[in-house]
Amino acid sequence: MATKLDAIRNLLMDMDGVLYRGHTPLAGAAELIHFLRGRGIRFLLVTNNSTLTPAQFAERMQKMGIPVEAEEIMTSGVATAEYLATIAPPGTKVNVVGEGGLIAELEKRGFVMAGREAQFVVCGLDKTVTYEKLKTATLAIRDGATFIGTNADKTYPLEKDLIPGAGSILAALIAATDVQPIVVGKPEPIILEQCLRLLGARKEETALLGDRLDTDILGGHRAGLTTIMVTTGIHTAEEAAAYPIQPDYLFADLPALLAAWRQALAE
Ligand SMILES: [Mg+2]
Repeated sequence: MATKLDAIRNLLMDMDGVLYRGHTPLAGAAELIHFLRGRGIRFLLVTNNSTLTPAQFAERMQKMGIPVEAEEIMTSGVATAEYLATIAPPGTKVNVVGEGGLIAELEKRGFVMAGREAQFVVCGLDKTVTYEKLKTATLAIRDGATFIGTNADKTYPLEKDLIPGAGSILAALIAATDVQPIVVGKPEPIILEQCLRLLGARKEETALLGDRLDTDILGGHRAGLTTIMVTTGIHTAEEAAAYPIQPDYLFADLPALLAAWRQALAE
């Protein structure tokens, strides 16, 4: 059963399509952060995007007037590195198809970048992917390396277009190896469970706020969280109505969510 808005003590929030779109802040984004801080509601921003580090995301949002810190951001890159650290010791060789944000998180935990001889292949969104990178990762997986994906989003939304996402690169490696990766990002539970642990949060008191049905709402539902959808991003209210899993709350935008939340607290 969904938790009432006034009983929510922790909030996991998606970023793109919720707080901003592209480089434009969405209405109510800064106000929501101030509201949560003022009410002592703990929160984490959770993104499947592994290309930037939390510090880089924080800087980007601060420039848009959204006052968040690096420590308040969980990327699929961070979650993947954390996950790997639970199954492999520092010094383990990892082959990466991915960008700087992902490599930085893995190196921070002592993993060593490697080629075909790697014990793990970690694949995220890589806008400079080449045949050579796919070939090395394929050979490593065929040699027995464990295959991990940061997230399986097939597309990556720009302000007006959809371009290939991490899932499209994973698809190439799946085709070449016939191996399915362990996926860390939403809607898989690994990233959300890490967020709950980090906040020391109980599921019954935690909500997930997002704009996308097949990652945010499905992931939150699977993790046993209350789900809140805003229609300022990928999916519309009509698409939500047609989806097999319904968000517990649906709002047109953040100001509408804030108004309902304030009213619930005032009652
Ligand atoms: Mg989103």
